[in-house]
Amino acid sequence: MSEQPKGKVIIVVAPSGSGKTTIARMLLEEMDKVRFSVSATTRPARPGEKHGVDYFFLSEEEFDRKINDGGFLEWEYYNGKRYGTLRSEVDKLMEMGYFPLLDIEVKGALNVKRMYGSQSLAVFIQPPSLEELERRLAGRGTEDEQTLASRLKLARKEMQYADRFDHTVVNDELEEAFQQVKQIVELFIADKP
Ligand code: ADP
Ligand code: 5GP
Repeated sequence: MSEQPKGKVIIVVAPSGSGKTTIARMLLEEMDKVRFSVSATTRPARPGEKHGVDYFFLSEEEFDRKINDGGFLEWEYYNGKRYGTLRSEVDKLMEMGYFPLLDIEVKGALNVKRMYGSQSLAVFIQPPSLEELERRLAGRGTEDEQTLASRLKLARKEMQYADRFDHTVVNDELEEAFQQVKQIVELFIADKP
């Protein structure tokens, strides 16, 4: 990519079920300079998820149009659905003086890191074990049996990417993991520009 990005971005990356959304929400609640960058996806909304808050839920056609319009900073397939970081979200948050927080999968995270280099921070949230990850995913109750199985298969692969990111935090005890992530993010933000 030849573009010269401005500003800094924070990425939380993890296999599905590790707890990255939980940790990201805690960060957003405590850090007023950090704001969630709402992605677009073609997967259906889960109960309770809101359009424009959790994701922009797009049809395949709408997603294609966004790609053609150059609307994505990056986008990837995950478990048969498409997910993409919207340039409009990241730009809007930066213009407002916030640090965008991206909750994205490993390939997208590597691409954003390639674009932003030292202007990006990627924290990999690791589950204590694959067994615990399976328990958490099943316990969340959002996936049917087939999606659960394919997410677990993907998780095994994604775990191998941990050392490609800036920091790894094991999410065993939630509060402890959150404090570690918060400290890492605070240091990154304080380090100007
Ligand atoms: P992800 O965004 O990585 O897919 P979630 O944040 O949705 O994962 O977490 C998956 C499930 O695990 C949720 O039900 C969440 O409440 C639970 N969870 C998250 N962190 C912990 C933890 N440290 N210990 C036990 N359960 C956790
Ligand atoms: P979920 O369906 O559980 O919400 O998300 C599935 C995976 O897609 C998660 O790893 C999540 O972080 C990732 N994801 C969400 N938004 C984006 C995005 O904009 N780009 C990429 N590459 N991945 C995303």
